[in-house]
Amino acid sequence: MKVSPEIQTLTPYSPGKPISETKRELGLTDVYKLASNENPFGPSPLVVSAMVEALNEIHRYPDASHYELKEVVKNFFNITGDKITFGNGSNELIDLLIRTFCSPGEAILTSQGAFLAYALCAQAARVRTLETQLSPELCFDLEDLAKTLKTSSEIIRLVFIANPNNPTGTYVGRAEFENFMGSVESLSNILVVVDEAYFEFVRSPDRWSALEYLDRWPQIVCLRTMSKVYGLAGIRLGILFAQPEIVDWLNRVRNPFNVNVVAQKGAIAAIHDQSYVRQVCSGTWDGLDYFYLELKKMGINYWPSQANFILFDTGQKASHVFKQLLKNGIIMRTVENYGWPSFLRMSVGKTEENIKAIDVLTQVLK
Ligand SMILES: *Cc1c(COP(=O)(O)O)cnc(C)c1O
Repeated sequence: MKVSPEIQTLTPYSPGKPISETKRELGLTDVYKLASNENPFGPSPLVVSAMVEALNEIHRYPDASHYELKEVVKNFFNITGDKITFGNGSNELIDLLIRTFCSPGEAILTSQGAFLAYALCAQAARVRTLETQLSPELCFDLEDLAKTLKTSSEIIRLVFIANPNNPTGTYVGRAEFENFMGSVESLSNILVVVDEAYFEFVRSPDRWSALEYLDRWPQIVCLRTMSKVYGLAGIRLGILFAQPEIVDWLNRVRNPFNVNVVAQKGAIAAIHDQSYVRQVCSGTWDGLDYFYLELKKMGINYWPSQANFILFDTGQKASHVFKQLLKNGIIMRTVENYGWPSFLRMSVGKTEENIKAIDVLTQVLK
């Protein structure tokens, strides 16, 4: 079988280890997964009943125009419907952006240490990935991104900025972003994608969204997801905001039935239940504060996080620590594939999960 070189060298995204697999392999009954930045509290009960109700309609194809969902999103975000489209998770939207706006041989630009989906989707589409370095604080270096955009000999079509970034939890401030946009606004045929998967968790007083700049800088694309604070990672729904012309191109390329019936109904109920979102944020922030305190006590270096997970330095081979944790029923995430062999990423869980995770981590690192 003939397979192109880009596909031959493609390493699949390695997701967090599933709970069921860990139980099976290690013969454990209690396993806590703090590995995939999922919402540990479960979906809102209102969302579950809306989805159960939707099961009565699954003999029909979903609404390819996402009409009802779009109405709800439009009102909640106060944005016209022609600037909105949806994907099977924001992962599909990342893929779609690359397939729509880049030709094979052209490039996307992001940072080293950024969410890996950008580079993986690019490679599958025979598109190259250019990366700037993170700052010493592990933040996106927007000045370097701007410089690369202006000086690179490659044809760059898309810039991906994850804010907050995964797996670092770090955050780019408003002034920095405005400077960046100001300095690249004259470059034509470049779209700036700001992936705000963790937006709701941001506690910085400098919280801003790319949504505020859609009209000022029409090359901006903003991504949101139902996978994190809304607790709906399993139904796959991402939201994209951009100028109507951009949305129109994406709607031509995407599969018509990319968002299923149950996901559309569930997302409507989820957006209506904002008190649940506030509860999840508050629980997540308590968990993060607990981690800060305990990691500090243990003398472990960590990066303060604007998301629902924390990156820390075990000071040793993290894959070894990972295995020890696993034996004790705690699943965390190594980030060796991002170039950090001694770091681990730990998502915030429920209170009892956080306590157990810290207990086991203390033992393992002793
Ligand atoms: C989790 C995450 C997403 C969400 O992906 P979905 O496909 O919507 O589940 C997007 N971007 C980043 C940076 C993430 O960490």
